[in-house]
Order: sequence, then C-alpha cells, then structure tokens
Amino acid sequence: MKLGTRFYLLMSAIFLSYSVISWLVFRDMVHEINQLWGRQFAERQVMFDKHRTLSPLIREIKLARQMALEPALIEMALHEDDAGVRSRATRVMERYRYLFRDHSYFAAFARSGNYYFNDAAGQYSDKQFRYTLSPREKNDYWFYATLKEGTDYQVNLDPDVHLGVVKVWINVLLKNGNEVLGVIGTGIDLSEFLKESVDINQKGVETFFVDKSMAIQLSADPALIDYASIAKTVGERIKIDVLLKNPADIEKLRQTAAYLEQHVGEVATLWVDYRGEKRLLGISYLPEVGWFDLTLMDEKSLRVIQGFSWLPLVFGSIFLLGLLLLGLLLNHWVLRPIHRLTKATEQIQQGNYETEPPIVGKGEISDLSRSFWRMVEFVRHTNEELERKVEERTEDLQRLTEIDYLTGLLNRRGMMDKLEKEVARQARQGGSMGLLLLDLDHFKQINDTYGHEAGDLALCAAANVLRSMKRSYDHVGRWGGEEFILLLPECNRDELIPIAERIREAIQSLRIDTGTTSFSFTASIGAHHPETPQTLDAMLQQVDRALYAAKHAGRNCVRSSHHDSTQSG
Ligand code: GH3
Ligand code: MG
Ligand code: MG
Repeated sequence: MKLGTRFYLLMSAIFLSYSVISWLVFRDMVHEINQLWGRQFAERQVMFDKHRTLSPLIREIKLARQMALEPALIEMALHEDDAGVRSRATRVMERYRYLFRDHSYFAAFARSGNYYFNDAAGQYSDKQFRYTLSPREKNDYWFYATLKEGTDYQVNLDPDVHLGVVKVWINVLLKNGNEVLGVIGTGIDLSEFLKESVDINQKGVETFFVDKSMAIQLSADPALIDYASIAKTVGERIKIDVLLKNPADIEKLRQTAAYLEQHVGEVATLWVDYRGEKRLLGISYLPEVGWFDLTLMDEKSLRVIQGFSWLPLVFGSIFLLGLLLLGLLLNHWVLRPIHRLTKATEQIQQGNYETEPPIVGKGEISDLSRSFWRMVEFVRHTNEELERKVEERTEDLQRLTEIDYLTGLLNRRGMMDKLEKEVARQARQGGSMGLLLLDLDHFKQINDTYGHEAGDLALCAAANVLRSMKRSYDHVGRWGGEEFILLLPECNRDELIPIAERIREAIQSLRIDTGTTSFSFTASIGAHHPETPQTLDAMLQQVDRALYAAKHAGRNCVRSSHHDSTQSG
C-alpha cells in the first residue's frame, strides 16, 4: 500500500475516532452542565416558591397566634354565657378582622362547640355566632381533629360549605395553660392565594405543597388538592402518588423528605418520572407550616445548552480541515518530492544520466535528494571511466590483432586494412602509390643451419631495416613467414625501384650474430606501381608476380611488374 493511501487511511481513522470521542465527551459535558445548572435552578426556584407562598401565610399565622393569646378570647371560651365577656371578646375579634388579610376570622370553642365568624363585608356583625359544631357532622370533623391532634397551629384547606368558598384555613389552638379551649384563626381565599403563590404560570415549572403524609395541600390545579386532610385518615388523602407513578420515585421522595425535616433550610433535588416525562424535583421543608415544597421542573426548560450538536460539528470540521492541511503539507513536503525522485531514478535506470538533477523537498527529504544526486554523479562518473577504459582496452586489443608479435610490424590483417584504405583514398582523390613485396632468400636453409631462433633474429633484423628506412607515411608489415610488404603512398614510379634497391642492399649488408657464429642473408623484392587505378587484388597479384620474377632471376634482386625497369643482385 502506498504511503499516501496509508496516511489517508490513518487520517480517516483518527478523524472518525476523534469525532466519536469528542461527540461522546461533549454530550456528557453538556449533560453534566445541564444537570448542574438544573440543580442550581431548582434550588433557587424552591427558595423562591417557599418565600412567595410562605410570607403571606406566616404573617397570618403570626397574627392568629397573637389573637389566640388574647385574654378576652380565653375568658370567652371559659365563660361564653356571660354577655359582657362575649361582647369584650367580640370587640377584640373584630379588631383582628381588620388586621387579617382576608378581613375575616373565626373562633370555635371546645366546651360549647359554638362557631363564631365574620367576613370582609362584615355581614355577620352583631350576629357573629353562626352555629354549633357537631362531632357527628362530617363538615365539622376538622374541628375535632384539630383539637385531638393538639398541634399549636396548622394550615388546612377546606371548603366552607356554609359560605360556599374554599379557604386556606389557619387554625391556632386557643389554650389556657395546657387546657385546649378551642380553635381560632382566619382563612385566605384559596383561588386568590393560588393565583399569587402557586399558579404563577412559569413555563416548565409546577409547584406543589404537601404535608408530612405527602397529601397535596396546594396545587395550581385545585382538583389535586386534598381538602381537609386533617379530618381524613392517611389512606383517604390525595397524595403525591397521583403525580408520581413510579414507586421508586415516591420512596426516594419520602427518604429525602425525612432527611430535610432534620435539615431545615436545605434544598434537595431528585430526577423523577412525572406523567411519563423526566422532571427535576426540588424539595425543601417549610417548618412554619409543616409542609414540603415540591417544585417540578421540565428537563427541557432546564437545559442551559440546547441543540449543541452543531458544536462538535464545528470542531469536527476544524479538525478535518486541519487533517486535510496536514495531508496537503505531507504531499507537498514528502510524497511529491519522493515521487519526483522516483521518476528521476527511473530515468537514470533507463540510462538517461543527462536528467537535470532537481533538489526536491525540504529538510531531510532535500538531504536525501542531495545524497541521491551525489550518488548518481558518482555512478555517472564511474560509468564514464569504465566506458573509457573499455574503449581503450578494445582499441589495444584491436591494435594487437593487427600487429605481428615477433617483429612488432603490422601483420597481414593490419596491412590489408592500410592497403584497402589507401586504395579507397586513391579512388576518391587520385594520386600514385607503390608496393614492394620482399621475401628472404633460402630462409629454410638458414633455419636449418643456424636454428630457428637465429632465423627469428634475422627476421627481426630485416624488420628493423624496413622500419628505419620507411618514410613517415609509408606502411610496412610482415605479410607471411619470411615475407614483408611495403606500401608507399605518393610514390613516383621512378622512385620505387631505387627505394627497393636501397632496402635490398641494407638487408644484404646485415650480419646476424648468434653468439657462436654469424651469418648474413639476402632478400628478393617485387615492385609494382600501377599506371591506372587497380583493385587491391590485382595489385597484389602483380607485385607477387614481380617477386616471383626476382626469385626466378636468381634472388637478391629487385624486379618490377613492368619488365623493363629492374635490375640488381
Ligand atoms: P626461397 O629462396 O625460395 O624463398 O627459399 P626459402 O627456403 O626461403 O623458401 P621457403 O618458402 O620454402 O621457406 C621458407 C622458410 O621460412 C620456411 C620456414 O622454416 C621459414 N620460416 C617461416 N616463418 C619463420 C619464422 O617465423 N621464423 C623462422 N625462424 N623461420 C621461419
Ligand atoms: Mg617465402
Ligand atoms: Mg624465402
């Protein structure tokens, strides 16, 4: 697999893992942030609900407790028959009517069961005694339950059947020492109270207040309110179960509530399933009324980061761009230079050393490129050197094949080459030339008499004579055993025979010293000077015939192919 492909595969793998990991991390991070923010929001919301709901109630409770301490009321509870006592107590109660938010009050006395009431309109002024409560009357259960429970004060929601309204009742025990004399207090119109406290129409947020038995005391939906919880058994009450269907959620809520009762002021949060949706439930305990504030918040409205999916996309795109840039740089810095280097290598492989050496890439790649070209230069130089040497050797060998090993003169092949060239040159340019063919006389006899080595000495001596006597542009060679040939370009017919004669004489005057004896020898020479251009074969035949003639004439003489021109010996 090519480096580029490997790199792009690696890049894709890195990109995919990065995308998946960053998306997972991002999702977790966003979830974590949302959870954290949600919890903080829930805590604030609970505190807010608590104060908004509690402050009007606390004011009413305080006032009602103050009213329960009024001596006139205690006295009336003890001596209700006394008109004076009643009148004094009524004045006190009327004073409180103006102070209460609802401008209404009630007082119910344990001994008589008599119930006194006046409202904002003051429609019961002078006839504050409304009726007598009865333990057998269902609507009056609240009174007897409150007495029985013995809590100093409590808040109870109850429809007032006599008045036809639902009220948030603040019930405070009227006591003389430890003796419970009755229940006094005031009521707040529930619908108005709900509007101001619970039903504030905050999107995604629903608030409930529950008592310790988890019976719903306040809700934006009045149908969910468990009216007159105090007068019912726990089983009869409308509890949080109607909101939270999951028993595990309810169990968690109960445990949290128990904890908060011991840790007043703290706010806890739980994730619960509310009508099929996930909600964050903020819980805090309100010791002033003995209730719990439950604030349910929609998960969606709690999200501080929504639709974050574009963010990993942006990061992914930036990362991808980075990778692409890296790929381009890799291509520019590494792959392309390597490719150019490979191309150059192929050129060199094909023997094209003339390729202009490009220094490719940067840094290490350019170092590699430089080393490569140095190596190419070295190979090129070595090759040239080798070629030159081979050429030299070939020339040497060529020369050797044309040289006679014994005399150092051209051999027959070397002479044929010279002869052919000269014949060709004359055919082109014209001119004259002479040929001399020389054969040593009775050489067999010399060998036989003085030995072969002496014969060789004689051959070398004859060769030296020929070599020393030839003109610079003449060619001389050993034509056969003891036969020599001379080619004399630019030689007149008249010059040829005298030259041959001088040669013959020089050979005749040679003396070969073998160390033990000495001897001399002679040569016969045939000469030929063509009048008109001839073929080499014709010329050779003619000169050979002239030599034969010289032999025939008795040896040690010169004969020309032209019969009339000769003589010596
Ligand atoms: P002629 O005068 O008719 O030429 O007589 P010749 O003896 O020279 O004639 P022939 O051609 O019969 O003999 C040539 C002799 O030359 C034969 C051979 O032994 C001798 N010879 C040829 N080549 C060499 C050589 O390289 N060295 C020696 N020592 N002798 C050679
Ligand atoms: Mg011979
Ligand atoms: Mg001979």
